[in-house]
Amino acid sequence: MQPITGKTKLLGIIGNPVKHSLSPIMQNAAIKHLAVDYIYIPFSVKSENLATALTVFLSIGVQGFNITIPHKQSILPLLSDITQTAKLVGAVNTVWRTETGWQGTNTDVIGFLAPLKSFSKNWQTISPIILGNGGAARAVVVSLAELGCPQIHVVGRDQNKLDKFKQSWLNHEFKVEIIVQTWDKLSDILSETELLINTTPIGMSLYRDRSPMDSSLWKKITNQAIIYDLIYTPSPTQFLKEAKEQGLITIDGSAMLVYQGATALELWLQQSVPVDVMSRSLKEYLLIVK
Ligand code: NAP
Repeated sequence: MQPITGKTKLLGIIGNPVKHSLSPIMQNAAIKHLAVDYIYIPFSVKSENLATALTVFLSIGVQGFNITIPHKQSILPLLSDITQTAKLVGAVNTVWRTETGWQGTNTDVIGFLAPLKSFSKNWQTISPIILGNGGAARAVVVSLAELGCPQIHVVGRDQNKLDKFKQSWLNHEFKVEIIVQTWDKLSDILSETELLINTTPIGMSLYRDRSPMDSSLWKKITNQAIIYDLIYTPSPTQFLKEAKEQGLITIDGSAMLVYQGATALELWLQQSVPVDVMSRSLKEYLLIVK
């Protein structure tokens, strides 16, 4: 790392809590590798202090920052502009300073798509299934629409929330058809899909060792299917362990995490960044804290 001086530029992440964030590990690893005069700092910001934090960040010269739970949506009215991707997702995870204030985007879409790019699938014929209908599911819907998937099934536990989720896309010029389903209908649609994505937290922390899907349902899934879990720790989750046992292709959330961070750093530094260094720093850190 370059020595921190009065010229060192500030980057960071805001959230509450922010102490579990892995972004400082991978961003500072890339900063060190590039030998640029930056530092990336976690800031714990309560919801009631969000507007103040943004004003202070502008006044002390912060160049840009990431946003995590619970500010990804509530930050929207505090920004001077947001990208079309952020508008579609309805949430921002990366901002940078401009002459008129903070501008924001959502790099989770690029992050989600990164590991799928290596598969030569005809996405225009695939109808993926998304388990969960929260914030991350929104970024996944935008990603899948970008891939050209004609139809997306979204599975959730609350019909009211599912209806609102479906409704929220109607104002956008979206070619993709969104079909919402409750969990009891999952077994009816599984055989149609080649891409199944878990965006629920089942498999991590409180739900560790649990899978979002009943293990009896694996037999319904084609052996061509890709099973994608957005969770990056633990890895593999119970969901991915079971998928592997079936011989299916699996993807965990670590590439998404790395690529959303790398895209943010590229935006701030306006240069390419070492994705491999970021990825390695995370793996090494996760081995230490395991
Ligand atoms: P969120 O907005 O809270 O959404 C979670 C979704 O999961 C909601 O639809 C929720 O249903 C559902 N859910 C929660 N507990 C459930 C349960 N016990 N049974 C069935 N459904 C349940 O969270 P998020 O921001 O979308 O994040 C979701 C996951 O994605 C987290 O594990 C997060 O770590 C991961 N993620 C990873 C990355 C990455 O870079 N790899 C990026 C973003 C998120 P209700 O709405 O009915 O409560």
